[in-house]
Amino acid sequence: SGFKSKPAFSGRVRVAVRLRPRNSEELTTDADFADCVELQPELKRLKLRRNNWDSDTFEFDEVLTEFASQKRVYEVVAKPVVESVLDGYNGTVMAYGQTGTGKTYTLGRLGDEDTSARGIMVRAMEDIFAEISPETDSISVSYLQLYMETIQDLLDPTNDNLSISEDPKSGDITLPGASLIEVRDQPSFVELLRLGEAHRFAANTKLNTESSRSHAILMVHVKRSVKESISGENGSSKSHTSRTMKPPIVRKGKLIVVDLAGSERIDKSGSEGHTLEEAKSINLSLSALGKCINALAENSPHVPVRDSKLTRLLRDSFGGTARTSLVITIGPSPRHRGETSSTIMFGQRAM
Ligand code: ADP
Ligand code: MG
Repeated sequence: SGFKSKPAFSGRVRVAVRLRPRNSEELTTDADFADCVELQPELKRLKLRRNNWDSDTFEFDEVLTEFASQKRVYEVVAKPVVESVLDGYNGTVMAYGQTGTGKTYTLGRLGDEDTSARGIMVRAMEDIFAEISPETDSISVSYLQLYMETIQDLLDPTNDNLSISEDPKSGDITLPGASLIEVRDQPSFVELLRLGEAHRFAANTKLNTESSRSHAILMVHVKRSVKESISGENGSSKSHTSRTMKPPIVRKGKLIVVDLAGSERIDKSGSEGHTLEEAKSINLSLSALGKCINALAENSPHVPVRDSKLTRLLRDSFGGTARTSLVITIGPSPRHRGETSSTIMFGQRAM
């Protein structure tokens, strides 16, 4: 008994691909055209069409078709990460893909009207609440937006430029100025998410920015008090003298869920109203993330986490003993084949 030894997770990111169904426009306008991808979920393969005859085949850890339920997506993509957070490790779940392919649907749906629609954030918290003991354990939440290398507090819009701090000893990453709100039950968590979304909308309206250009980051800190006695669970618990109680062990885990900015190329010509500098800065965290994911996949000793705010934030929740899960979201439309292809490549580089 005693401390659980740290499991040796492979540093590699687990990658699932999720296809969203055709929307009504794609069903009518593109009715005569085949989807740009064909999924073989049993083989965990995806085929990307090159033309009418040829396609390229890619393998992923999971292949989720347009019929995959939210429940299944949660179980495949996030549940193992949530379980290891409950065991005291850090973990990250991220969604990457072109705007409109289902990142927010996958992660952020509240499912007020229909509980089967609940996304990963809500389901993760339900699993966490089901597992902890409210008398001894605590859960606190921060919710942030990262736009052009500036971190805003979505739970307190007056905190609009947060800085990241790293404990030199433990390597723990904290955000000293960010709201860290203790939540006691699921309804108060859902209210916080709703509040955060409202603040995100207001901030983006005020600054005239699109939320598709920013990252939304939910951080859940789970602190558990685990009692362990020397004699262990199967020991002779009747003889109190042979049983020495040790002080409870505090087990801390952190879950980070990131709804990434849209992966589509930003027009550097400025026709979207961005200057070249803005376009570069908007892309910075996403391309830095790609480099870190590649480095992990290649088992490189140098993971360049310091290159962006996003990767600095993820530093203690990425690689090492942390579990990392990435879901790449794609649409079926042949019109977006180019973007779909680059999303698939991003996922492949993680493997
Ligand atoms: P993103 O966050 O990547 O920009 P959204 O999550 O907002 O994309 O999804 C775009 C649209 O597609 C929304 O109307 C959403 O409801 C719908 N959608 C996305 N994924 C699915 C899915 N798996 N099943 C049904 N509708 C979906
Ligand atoms: Mg979105």
